[in-house]
Amino acid sequence: MEPRSISQNGNISENGGSSLIFLGTGCSTAVPNARCLIQPSDPPCEVCSRSLSLPPERNPNYRCNTSLLIDYARADGEHKYILIDVGKTFREQVLRWFTIHKIPQVDSIILTHEHADAVLGLDDIRVVQPFSPTNDIDPTPIYLTQYAMDSIAQKFPYLVQKKLKEGVEVRRVAQLDWKIIESCLERPFLSSGLEFVPLPVMHGEDYVSLGFLFGKSRVAYISDVSRFPESTEYVISKSGAGQLDLLILDTLYKEGSHNTHFCLPQTLDAVKRICPKRALFVGMTHEFDHEKDNKALAEWSVREGIPVQLAQDGQRIFIDL
Ligand SMILES: [Zn+2]
Ligand SMILES: [Zn+2]
Repeated sequence: MEPRSISQNGNISENGGSSLIFLGTGCSTAVPNARCLIQPSDPPCEVCSRSLSLPPERNPNYRCNTSLLIDYARADGEHKYILIDVGKTFREQVLRWFTIHKIPQVDSIILTHEHADAVLGLDDIRVVQPFSPTNDIDPTPIYLTQYAMDSIAQKFPYLVQKKLKEGVEVRRVAQLDWKIIESCLERPFLSSGLEFVPLPVMHGEDYVSLGFLFGKSRVAYISDVSRFPESTEYVISKSGAGQLDLLILDTLYKEGSHNTHFCLPQTLDAVKRICPKRALFVGMTHEFDHEKDNKALAEWSVREGIPVQLAQDGQRIFIDL
């Protein structure tokens, strides 16, 4: 019999099952915030100091750009690796977590939106693709909105261009198969055989970002949100279309509010309204101290009856997908 492993949520899963790996749980500047190190305050920023006190792979206060890797074990036993977002720190995340968790490749990519912390690592996708000096490989499907496509065509014209002009040397670049999705709850799509429902959310009142609902165990991943449209909230709420098994949700600062992201007060309010079985937070700045704030959140969880915690880079959760 195969050995069994105990996942972080305490469930026993067969080895070889599906899992979620948090490749990053930080904000756009990532943690440590470089400014705290080159222009230290007096006293120095505690979290940024602590985020360098241990190597990143053993340090929950070291946070790269928010990104999730879905290790999807299909019914036939084959594993597919689906990457959500490819930010500025992608290469570092591959070096650290693909090695530790033994992830050999990326089979498909999904983008929440086209901000720098979600797309600027796209050049490095070539390292998770098969090697060909002539770019003669199957392109990796990448799912994104038309708005994100137009923006990426300006940021990375060489990744979008199909044919080389005559007389231009071949240079090795990531090979991507761009697939347009709709910002629409009624337009689910398949990525590596797993169904995703787009969850349009406001990320600032002038901008729509996408979250995604997926899995037999219902998981919602919403990394960039300042307000839920009613129709999106309905789809992921216990009082609406049904209770989530896991909500992964944005939280930028500990206090107050922000124009383009939830901060902890809005994040906790949303968790109470949506009422998932469990929630994990991502997108944190250096205001959050992993251990200290998770203790406070554990008390909140007991009070409110919903387990919530800050996620950490490298965390892996076994879950039925
Ligand atoms: Zn700091
Ligand atoms: Zn953003």
